[in-house]
Amino acid sequence: KLVLGIETSCDDTAAAVVDDTGKILGEALHSQNEVHLKTGGIIPPVAQQLHRENIERIVKETLCVSGISLKELSAVATTVKPGLALSLGVGLEYSLKLVDKYKKPFIPIHHMEAHALTIRLINQVEFPFLVLLISGGHCILVVAQGVSDFLLLGQSVDIAPGDMLDKVARRLSLTKHPECCRMSGGKAIEHLAQQGNRLHYELGAPMRHHPNCNFSFSGLHSNATRIIMQKEKEEGIFQSKIYTNCTPDLWLYLQKPLLLTISLGLQEGHLLSCVTDIAAAVQHAVALHIAQRTHRAILFCIKSGILSQPNATLVVSGGVASNQYIRRALQIVTDATNFNLLCPPPRLCTDNGVMIAWNGIERMRAGLGVLHSTDGIRYEPKASLGIDISEQVG
Ligand code: ATP
Ligand code: FE
Repeated sequence: KLVLGIETSCDDTAAAVVDDTGKILGEALHSQNEVHLKTGGIIPPVAQQLHRENIERIVKETLCVSGISLKELSAVATTVKPGLALSLGVGLEYSLKLVDKYKKPFIPIHHMEAHALTIRLINQVEFPFLVLLISGGHCILVVAQGVSDFLLLGQSVDIAPGDMLDKVARRLSLTKHPECCRMSGGKAIEHLAQQGNRLHYELGAPMRHHPNCNFSFSGLHSNATRIIMQKEKEEGIFQSKIYTNCTPDLWLYLQKPLLLTISLGLQEGHLLSCVTDIAAAVQHAVALHIAQRTHRAILFCIKSGILSQPNATLVVSGGVASNQYIRRALQIVTDATNFNLLCPPPRLCTDNGVMIAWNGIERMRAGLGVLHSTDGIRYEPKASLGIDISEQVG
């Protein structure tokens, strides 16, 4: 069996061909990240236009690298939910044209289900297992009981951790920092946090009085913003205003200790250490919150008999899962509870075509949701994953 997977739910146009042994025959991806970094966030019509410009090339490239013709495919699998309406629409419209023309079965894919099952392409993980998905758009804890059978234990009640890290990074103008101008916000925070002292600022623990597995990151975001504003006031300068108009050259100039001291009246290196300390404190607070909530979910799974050791597994995926500090925090939790911790490789943690094709294979094998008629298929910008039992978790 050979499945072509197509992903356009957010800002990546991606495709891949995967076979039923999990072999990746070929893949291609066009990231819109650089365009969106410039505008300070995704503008849906811009994302739509970029998907339109790239989808055909990405699919053709994937087939070419795979050495597969459309006729040889067993099915086409495409993300139809959840995501940005304008982005999902491009992938769906293109896929429907393909399946109609080549008379192929169509497999509509839930983006979060695909993230959750990616690990099974890499490791032999049997159901059930616990999954933590932490990304720019999501933060959920689910038990995967089967290909299309999930229990939702908790999710963010406001923004996702990647979104929060991106917002703080923008407020600190890290996207203009010469060391990290090509990185995502989360990656930039991780990079600078390595040089910072996490104990210098206290961001607090969210949802302390909610003994469940839900998450909240907007309070941490406000606290970080307050600290940054306070710092700006104390110094009598507006750092981020300076950074905002800061070309990489100017940034380097500002960092030269002597010039910095003269031009801003600050102590040597102060500007930089304040930023790195904030990055470290933010990263620490996010890691701690994620680890504590995951710990509670693990204890719930053990207590309720949903999962039992020693073969119980926690899978962590999504863009934020590539953060080594957060991973170490989760490793401490899994070591203490005798769980295995598994993460797909970083390129399969962020959005990609492979996970969509693989989900197609899993669904074909399970005989679930393989459509031979495409009548009435729609994309769904909002879609939850699994049965919500979050109120029972405490
Ligand atoms: P979703 O998959 O939920 O629709 P998305 O496409 O934005 O959302 P991903 O591509 O999985 O999510 O991940 C992107 C997010 O991951 C961004 O918010 C980015 O800042 C964050 N991220 C990437 N690398 C790191 C890192 N090393 N540490 C922390 N966060 C990171
Ligand atoms: Fe994603």
